[in-house]
Amino acid sequence: MPEATTTESSALAPQIQAYLQRSSWIRKMFETGAELKARHGVDAVCDFSLGNPDLSPPDAVFEALEDLARRDQRFGYMPNAGYPEARAALAAFLSQEQGVPVSDQDVILTCGAAGALNSFFRAVLEPGDEVLCPSPFFVEYGFYAENHGGKLHPVPTNPDDFSLDLDAVAAAVGPKTRVVLINTPNNPSGRVYAQSELHALAELLRSKSRETGRTIYLLSDEPYRFLTFDGHPVPSLLPLYPHTVVVSSFSKSLALAGERIGYALVNPTMPGKAELLAGLTLTNRILGFVNAPAIGQRLMQKALGAQVDVQLYAQRRTAMAEVLEGANIPFFKPQGAFYFFPKAPGGDDVAFVQALQEELILAVPGRGFGTPGYFRLAFCVDETVIRRSAEGFKRAAAKFK
Ligand code: PLP
Repeated sequence: MPEATTTESSALAPQIQAYLQRSSWIRKMFETGAELKARHGVDAVCDFSLGNPDLSPPDAVFEALEDLARRDQRFGYMPNAGYPEARAALAAFLSQEQGVPVSDQDVILTCGAAGALNSFFRAVLEPGDEVLCPSPFFVEYGFYAENHGGKLHPVPTNPDDFSLDLDAVAAAVGPKTRVVLINTPNNPSGRVYAQSELHALAELLRSKSRETGRTIYLLSDEPYRFLTFDGHPVPSLLPLYPHTVVVSSFSKSLALAGERIGYALVNPTMPGKAELLAGLTLTNRILGFVNAPAIGQRLMQKALGAQVDVQLYAQRRTAMAEVLEGANIPFFKPQGAFYFFPKAPGGDDVAFVQALQEELILAVPGRGFGTPGYFRLAFCVDETVIRRSAEGFKRAAAKFK
């Protein structure tokens, strides 16, 4: 029997084909990194490309794991919003952290912050809706918005310190705006938005919501809230704007990124919050997450309040700043999270990242975060690796003088 033939060149959906094409140079950079490691040995390469915490989870996580292993534990389906006792414990923790009373009914447990973002977009976006986001931004946001018929609308920040450009936000808000998404402390810029900026943003959204006749949600993605430097506070948005939703996870604070445990917190004072929470519980289920992982919920519940050793990140930040200063590369010193986002010497981020690769240093070009002309360094690596890269940075930067 003749084989079935097809005229399609690929069975992929055109949108996914286009994504693959667009991100092909990023893939190429990662492939080059892998080749360099294979050729020169892993230890010879200084890899600052990945935001994957290298630190061990705190002891509380291992104690919780041992405890779980000893119990006659069930791991079956549960209510889609999560175990009631895990939600209650999280609500008590968030009441402290956010400085407002949060009840167990205000939170749902999700598969990481990524799962919370997708569940939220699925619940509120209509086809063609826009999600405004200050740039630079975590690159997955664009995919998540498009997963649910929305579109990411990047808005520039002030180029020297990545603070919010409120005039740019005001100019960008239109009838299609459904969500303003901020990430503080920020990946990749290291910016922590100040109380005054957030207050002004909340005022702006209030007046724009009135003007457009449509609720604009403020979505705050906060997986790095635990990690700030020099005592920098991370103001809560909940008292500032009723239509706020906070999403976060324990990927970085408990070094549990692979265990996929996070949450969405709906502002306890939001009008109509029960409907949004019901929507989120449903979307969490029907997107195929069903519920957050059972073990992750138990670990989170028992380890709440513990965190990785942030002092180590502070030392690494100092080391990275010294390396960049030594190479005369201008940068904004991160106030939080574990990234630097310096200006690329010569102005071409891809060319500079390639020059770094020649020195066996891996970084990510700023255009991967919607902001060409910069590059990102993740300093969740050992301090010795950071110090070892110093001469390579100097040689690479000297090529663009
Ligand atoms: N948001 C930001 C800003 C991130 O940097 C990350 C991961 O690096 C995520 C969300 C997703 O994290 P997770 O889904 O592991 O919580």
